[in-house]
Amino acid sequence: MTLQVGIVGGGQLARMMIAPAVELGIDVRVLAEQPGMSAGLAATAVGDYRDLETVLAFARDVDVITFDHEHVPQDVLQGLVAAGVAVHPGPEALFFAQDKLRMRARLDELGMPQPAWAAVSDAAGLDAFLEAHGGRAVVKTPRGGYDGKGVRVVSAAADAADWLGALAEDGELLVEELVDFTRELAQQVARRPSGDSVIYPVVETVQRDGVCAEAIAPAPHAAGRLADIAADIGEAIAVGLGVTGMLAVELFETTDGRLLVNELAMRPHNSGHWTQDGSITSQFEQHLRAVLDLPLGDTALRAPWSVMVNILGGPATDALADRLPAALDAHPAAKVHTYGKDPRPGRKVGHVNVAGADLDEVCYEARAAAAFFAD
Ligand code: ADP
Repeated sequence: MTLQVGIVGGGQLARMMIAPAVELGIDVRVLAEQPGMSAGLAATAVGDYRDLETVLAFARDVDVITFDHEHVPQDVLQGLVAAGVAVHPGPEALFFAQDKLRMRARLDELGMPQPAWAAVSDAAGLDAFLEAHGGRAVVKTPRGGYDGKGVRVVSAAADAADWLGALAEDGELLVEELVDFTRELAQQVARRPSGDSVIYPVVETVQRDGVCAEAIAPAPHAAGRLADIAADIGEAIAVGLGVTGMLAVELFETTDGRLLVNELAMRPHNSGHWTQDGSITSQFEQHLRAVLDLPLGDTALRAPWSVMVNILGGPATDALADRLPAALDAHPAAKVHTYGKDPRPGRKVGHVNVAGADLDEVCYEARAAAAFFAD
């Protein structure tokens, strides 16, 4: 009998699950927010993921519901479970990916290394944290942030006056120490409902203006101690939070050689796009296998190095399709992945993967191919 997966959300992550689903003979359906989205190819429904009736109707007849994002409200997730729908990752796990304050509190309970943090509800609380942590800190809105939106470095409570002023009666902001990091890493883990898990090699990510620009796999100079610590953190969080499907743990490597957890994503993640062309099993195939409780795939590298460079939208990327022939001609080893999205300045509209034996060459190729679209 054909396996059926329903994906809530029609963005590029859902889009990139379509190809491996076709290959494995899995019937994939997408509930898109609107027509014409990235994953429109497989959109069998268009509707509001915050509406239980809409999501229940979409979930009828599928073997499992999974997600392109973490924003489906808890009451909708609980409603699906109550109706007997298999939901992966489940509401209990997503609870911690939906709110950065809950995540920090739970990771403390699990003994995970983190930046010093606090929940603050007023200027006095924020000033007290600043005084105790060197006069500068990072303030975050607990919910709804992405790509650096909802993250701000402050040196006085006044710098966050707008956010503090907008808090609801019992609302709180997350404040964290400003971590002195040398680089950012990401650890991916896949876990099945029946408990098996596999890990990917830890990767280095480069952010520009709060947006992931590049990922290098495996992270240079991480083999051994750092890679082992990252893997242990990823595994402990996947098990501790009961994550099913793909988990990405974003990490800071500090100047004194520690790893601290920045944040979590319970779905395929930008830091894992390299796996499409650099790993035996891509994160998109792995996510489908994991949520269907199928045996997980090999995460071994196809080449010593893989580099992923995002294509960010801008006026020039109106011509993404026009530029494709020249880019493919100039960079035959580059694998170009496009998202079918209208370009807007800074918006992720695609990425390029290159895999090979020489890291400098692989970086050069990937950056040069992406620059064809983005300059
Ligand atoms: P988002 O949910 O928007 O991805 P993040 O919490 O990952 O937000 O923060 C975005 C970026 O801001 C991080 O990738 C990192 O570069 C920087 N950042 C976040 N938290 C801290 C921190 N405590 N110290 C230093 N830099 C931080």
